Amino acid sequence: MCAGKYQSPIDIRPIDTVYNRQLTNFVFYHPQRETAKFIAKNNGHSIQVNTDGQFFLAYGGLQYTYRISQFHFHWGSSREKGSEHTIYKAADPMEMHIVSWNEEKYRSMAEAAMQPDGLAVLGILFRVSDYDNPLLEPLVLVIPYIRDPEWNNSVEIPVVPMNEFLPNCPEKYYRYHGSLTTPRCYESVTWTVFKRRLTISKRQLNVFRQTLTKEVAIHQSPRTNIKTTGGGREPLVDNFRPVQPLNGRVIERSYQILHAV
Ligand SMILES: [Zn+2]
Repeated sequence: MCAGKYQSPIDIRPIDTVYNRQLTNFVFYHPQRETAKFIAKNNGHSIQVNTDGQFFLAYGGLQYTYRISQFHFHWGSSREKGSEHTIYKAADPMEMHIVSWNEEKYRSMAEAAMQPDGLAVLGILFRVSDYDNPLLEPLVLVIPYIRDPEWNNSVEIPVVPMNEFLPNCPEKYYRYHGSLTTPRCYESVTWTVFKRRLTISKRQLNVFRQTLTKEVAIHQSPRTNIKTTGGGREPLVDNFRPVQPLNGRVIERSYQILHAV
């Protein structure tokens, strides 16, 4: 599956993108916010926040209303890598993915994940700033309690309207059709990558870097039947997939470029 022709992530060359006037602003809505929950967890591959409750995403050139199920992050061990999407071959230290599925057409996330119009993912790139990002701080504060996936901990964090996670100028974004970036890499994703970035401080980024991957049992003693692991635990960093070939895909953009005369 991961050898398909329309895979993600990709390198975006803004100069080669094509303006599409149908790529309008997104609309987010969340009825019954009082009963909704955000639950943060380390799944061994990422820090993921599951949205328990009704969070919807519409417009933005999407044909259907999509239901947001989770958001998660990809980050690097150093500043020059971490994001999945790159702009002119340059990576950013972090990328956030807001994952939603087509609830109008399909019955479950699992079913939608295999259909060409099943998923819509919003990608938000980060740059390092000298200042903490207050929006990320509730999550950063609980990471020490979920940093080891073997603890199997999950922690509730305050619910925030999803549109607050968008960068400045959220009307400016890139659009293409691609895939999930983890196996089985289904080509079911309408991708949006925002032009502008959010910020994260060096301190906050280092908290993400202190998380761990899952323990892998590599040796089982035939005599004692005791499983031992291969030395120290691996830090959970560089959890990004490398960019994939475009294979003729056209990347669209939502905004016009005004040329100076
Ligand atoms: Zn992702």
